[in-house]
Amino acid sequence: MINFDLLIIGAGPAGLTAAQYGARANLKTLVIEQLAPGGQALLIDVLENYPGNTALLDAGGKVLAEPKTGFDFSQDLYRQAEAFGASFLTGSVLSLEKEGALFVAGLSGGEVRKAPAVIIAAGAKHRILGVPGEKEFTGRGVSYCASCDGPFFRNKKIFAAGGGDSACDEARYLSRLTSRVILIHRRDRFRAQKALAERTLRNPNIEVRFNTSIKEIRGGQKVESVILERTGNDGKGTGETREEAADAVFVFAGTTPQSALAAGGTGGGTSGIRAELDENGGIVTDQKMASSVPGLFAAGDVRSGSFRQVVVAAGEGAVAAHSAAEYLDETKSG
Ligand code: NAP
Repeated sequence: MINFDLLIIGAGPAGLTAAQYGARANLKTLVIEQLAPGGQALLIDVLENYPGNTALLDAGGKVLAEPKTGFDFSQDLYRQAEAFGASFLTGSVLSLEKEGALFVAGLSGGEVRKAPAVIIAAGAKHRILGVPGEKEFTGRGVSYCASCDGPFFRNKKIFAAGGGDSACDEARYLSRLTSRVILIHRRDRFRAQKALAERTLRNPNIEVRFNTSIKEIRGGQKVESVILERTGNDGKGTGETREEAADAVFVFAGTTPQSALAAGGTGGGTSGIRAELDENGGIVTDQKMASSVPGLFAAGDVRSGSFRQVVVAAGEGAVAAHSAAEYLDETKSG
């Protein structure tokens, strides 16, 4: 079995940046990811708000190259981390235990990897609406990702739900595929950033309906209609409902941190680690990204209070790796 200095769980922008910084600090670094490197950044259409990732213009202002997509950006981060010496392993971490000074990660397939420092950068998973029909029609008209499934509903009538940045961003993506996007939000205003909210309201292909929620999704083989309910400004239903034809329902209701490994629960096994979490399940850290468990760090969307932006995740990954290196120096010399 190979032992490492630093295990990084998750290869989104936080994990990949931590890997680069860990490897550059001469730490024997292993990144474990169950899917492809990039995490949720893979789904970003155009990563237009990452500093420096801007269009390339000629002297006359003609666009020579567009900003990178989330996919291309993720590939570059991955290649960069690998070039600096980080190792990568595809698999799920099912358990995380502490054996003396070492963390022991139990992987799918029964393998284990050990290291004295761990960064959890496992991101967050989408929240569901929790309404009848949602689970049943997932993959048959219900989706959580516009760029993945939007093209199946070209020129169709699409309902989208949510009032945050994701809802506005993803509705814009859908509005390029059809002129019939109906964005449903349970309150009387968006919680999205002002610029995004205003752009959404101006988009001729998006009809915004405030004070409305999706109460039920109905259909046969696939989604055929939604039951909409009028809501008060507290977001709660008033009981006034009506049915409307629909071809698809896209849910953008926020995310929950994938922090189970840090807190006793896991994706299948058991965990002896009990780090402090906030009420939403985010791992609580200090400014050095250190959790309440010595040697365990967190970065990106899994971390309590993280502003879910690629640039922030990358910055937190860099801080976490730097802090892990300091921790390892201190524990070696102490
Ligand atoms: P969010 O800000 O938590 O918004 C989730 C939205 O879904 C809220 O409007 C919420 O309604 C609604 N919602 C939640 N549960 C619901 C339910 N059961 N029924 C109906 N509506 C429900 O999540 P997000 O939009 O994914 O954004 C999360 C973070 O990522 C933010 O920090 C955001 O800035 C960042 N982000 C940024 C960008 C960008 O900069 N371009 C893009 C995507 C995400 P209420 O308003 O009533 O709570």
